Amino acid sequence: ELKLSSLNKAFGAVHVLHDIDLSVKDGEFVVFVGPSGCGKSTLLRIIAGLEDVTSGRIEIGGRDVGQLSPAERKIAMVFQSYALYPHMSVRKNLAFGLENLKFKRSEIDARIAEAARMLAIEPYLDRKPRQLSGGQRQRVAIGRAIVREPDIFLFDEPLSNLDAALRVQTRAEITRLHQQIKTTMIYVTHDQVEAMTMADKIVILRAGRVEQVGSPLELFDYPRNLFVAGFLGSPR
Ligand code: ATP
Ligand code: MG
Repeated sequence: ELKLSSLNKAFGAVHVLHDIDLSVKDGEFVVFVGPSGCGKSTLLRIIAGLEDVTSGRIEIGGRDVGQLSPAERKIAMVFQSYALYPHMSVRKNLAFGLENLKFKRSEIDARIAEAARMLAIEPYLDRKPRQLSGGQRQRVAIGRAIVREPDIFLFDEPLSNLDAALRVQTRAEITRLHQQIKTTMIYVTHDQVEAMTMADKIVILRAGRVEQVGSPLELFDYPRNLFVAGFLGSPR
């Protein structure tokens, strides 16, 4: 379980997250939604350990994340912009993080083969990222997270650079991946359709605060206020 308690984050004088309390069960698919600038990426980056907090606690499996070593803190993040290494082949992009963690060659090769199979990117393993389409690149970015075998996957608007058809296809792939490996996933989007179709639990953020948390149906049927109703398109 991932647990955030009374989490606050300020950048200098700008207070961007206010008293965030949230728990995520193992295996849950949680979607963070909210308008641009409400703090979704900041919250994700904090969970990933890429950003420190101003105050509050983050626990994974009952332990403060500060006490976990990088090897124990098994969190992988997929960014909107792919962030692939342009000069490396797809295979090398997938291998790189594991090589840095000193995994055995045989283990690295086995994990790459498995991820490539799951994502149907075997034909592209020896290409460079620039020789791939946007959708293929995003699958490689997801593959790079999969080979780490993380306990928690974080996705920051992973589909926003894709065209509409690819967005639908890749969304279905991520859902299928979740059904297959049943790992905790936290997925940021500002697209209510993605939120409604993918989430076990939706967290609605507004100006750095949690506005409401619930299943898609709960939020749709019982929005706490007009902001939530308007955001999810429920009748008012
Ligand atoms: P979007 O949907 O546009 O991606 P978001 O919900 O992900 O928005 P964040 O990127 O988390 O929003 O930003 C939340 C607020 O924090 C914004 O007002 C942003 O300007 C501010 N912010 C984010 N990163 C920094 C930083 N490194 N320094 C200062 N302010 C920052
Ligand atoms: Mg963002």
